[in-house]
This record gives sequence, C-alpha cells and structure tokens, in this order.
Amino acid sequence: MSVPFLDIRAMNDEVRPALDDLWRDVVDTSAFIGGPLVDEFEMSWARYCETNHAVGVANGTEAIRLTLTAMGIGPGDEIIVPANTFIATVSAVVSAGATPVFVDVDPATLLMTADHVSAAVTPRTAAVIPVHLYGQPADMRAIGTVAKREGIAVIEDAAQAHGARWEGRKAGSLGDAACFSFYPGKNLGALGDAGAVVTNDPAVADRVRQLANHGRGADRYSHDVVGANSRIDGLQAGSLSAKLGRLDSWNDARRRAASRYDELLAPLVEPTHQRPEAESVYHLYVVRFDDRDSMQGALEARGIATGLHYPIPCHWQPPYVEVGRPALPVSEDAAQRLLSLPIFPHITDEQIELTVDAIQDQVHNRYDAAIA
Ligand SMILES: *Cc1c(COP(=O)(O)O)cnc(C)c1O
Repeated sequence: MSVPFLDIRAMNDEVRPALDDLWRDVVDTSAFIGGPLVDEFEMSWARYCETNHAVGVANGTEAIRLTLTAMGIGPGDEIIVPANTFIATVSAVVSAGATPVFVDVDPATLLMTADHVSAAVTPRTAAVIPVHLYGQPADMRAIGTVAKREGIAVIEDAAQAHGARWEGRKAGSLGDAACFSFYPGKNLGALGDAGAVVTNDPAVADRVRQLANHGRGADRYSHDVVGANSRIDGLQAGSLSAKLGRLDSWNDARRRAASRYDELLAPLVEPTHQRPEAESVYHLYVVRFDDRDSMQGALEARGIATGLHYPIPCHWQPPYVEVGRPALPVSEDAAQRLLSLPIFPHITDEQIELTVDAIQDQVHNRYDAAIA
C-alpha cells in the first residue's frame, strides 16, 4: 500500500454529480465569467467567513496584490511579512509596488507574532500580512493590538486556513481584509485557479472588484483606475459552491488525522505547537527532523509521499535577497528541517499508521547506527 500526499479526487468524487451538472450548466448558459454562479459563491463565502463582503478573483496571489492596491498601498510603503511562508505572500507585495520587510517566526508555532511586528515597524510601514500557515491562525488579537497602536492595516493571508478560527472567530474576519486561494490543493479547492478577498469594508470590496475587472467604473465604458483582468470564472465559483457544504466535515477529518499523528508521533518528534486559542484546519501537517532529507528518502522508499513547505526561506530567494538583511534563524532552521506528512480528509488510520511506522523505523535505524 502506498500513501499519497493528498487525494483531491476523493473530495471531488463526493460532489461529482454536482460538478457534472455544473459543467453542463456553464456550457448551456455561457456564464463563463461573472454571472449568477459568481454572485452566489461570493454571498456564501462571505457568510462562511463571517464577513460582509467577498469578491471572487483569479487566484490567491492576485487577492493579496489587489487588496494592497485597493487600500492605496504601493511604492514607498513597507509591508511586514513572515519569512516562513509561500513565496506568493511576498511576490504579491512586490507586484503592488510595495517593499516586503521580512520577520522571523515563533519557534513553537512557526508563525509570525506581535513582537516580530512591533520590532519591524518603521514610519513607512503601511500594513502587516500575518500568514495562517499550515492552517493555524496567527495570534490575531496581539497583532491587531500592535497594528492599531501603529496605525497600520492588517491583511490576513488565509490561503491555507479556510474555516480556521482564532478565539472562536473565523480566519478571514480577523483583520481589515483577508485573502484566500482556492488552488485545487487547498482545503477548499476549485477546478483550476481561483481566489477571493473578504472584508467588512465596502470601499475595499468595491475597489478590489473594480481593479480586478479592468478598472471598470459604474458604467461599462468608464475605466477610472488602472485595472487588470483578475476575475474568477463561473465554473470555478460554481465548483466552490458545490464543495463548500463539505468544507467543515473535511476540516474535521483533517483535525482527526492530525490528532492521530500527534498521538502516535509523541514519543518520536515534537509536533508543531498549537495555541489553545487556535482551531487549525491542518492544511498541512509539518514536523521537524534533524535529518529531514534522509527521512523523506526513507518514506519515499516505502511509497509514502511527503512535501517540503518550504525548503528555502523567502528572504533567501534570489529576487528578495537584500545585502545586510539580518538573519532570521527560526525560519532558516525550519526550512532545513521541516517535512510535511500526508494529510487530507480521506486519509485512513491505516495510512497514518504506515507513515508513523516508517518514521519510527527510520528514527531507530539512525539511533542504532549511532550507537553501533
Ligand atoms: C497558495 C498560497 C498563496 C497563493 O495562492 P494562489 O492561488 O496559488 O495564487 C498565497 N499564500 C499562501 C500562504 C499560500 O499557501
């Protein structure tokens, strides 16, 4: 038996009749871009996130770029971002014309904290982007307090945190605006690329919508601002509506899998710490191993697929390296040691046990080799 890293097919199969109907409807009605499927999904997604507005966009990276631009953030502005994130958090800041300022992460949760934000604020700081990485929200109360004191905006990167909560409140409703990706591998995934911005600020929502649709104003032929084409497709929006009703049960299944891993791995490795205020949706289940590459090889040899999230910290990626930038030791260490184990809603107990057995054997082999 092999263990895949992720099984998207099993999720799509649960809603297969709805997806087949959707495809036919879109072709029959030609509602390819915009239209009722998009309106309907935006309404349900805003409700799900406990926010007043949701705007569907082309992908999660564009969601971040459009939000920054909609808030009037651009050249000359600094945006605080964690070094331990997917590169899109950073490239979106640069595409908006702003400057990313990297901060390190907490060694226990691997997330940005309010102290990191406090230490990085300058008179040019316009916003902070906490990333709810791996599905666990950052400490949004403390980060919100610092942001308020400093007069900077908080934009959540919730691309890995659909349905997660902090102190009972939904990811997406915890800052001034939040950005989601519906890339097929995310907890809620489309049939291609898609994303959304959610916010309680109607001006930000309107501006994002306008920027994503060629800068189009109230009438079809006026273009008041320089826009882009970053809209969501009807097919993508419809597929997300078809799956949204399953998201909570899929997240529950991920949490069950994670607690099984926690339990079985406890004697072997320390799991990534979960704050009691956080309810993670375990987009990923990451653990740190001293000899990560051999561990990954040993699992691979037994048919167990794993992932690396992320092996090079963002501040070391060529376009973002800046001479004289301080070391960010926690992010740098995590990049070398993190391994993402298979986790997805349909993973079986047997697959989890197989994965943990393989880890245990590898830990013991190495131990035996060390004392031989
Ligand atoms: C996936 C992801 C993004 C980008 O989303 P896309 O839809 O792929 O553009 C941004 N930030 C994080 C943390 C992500 O995981």
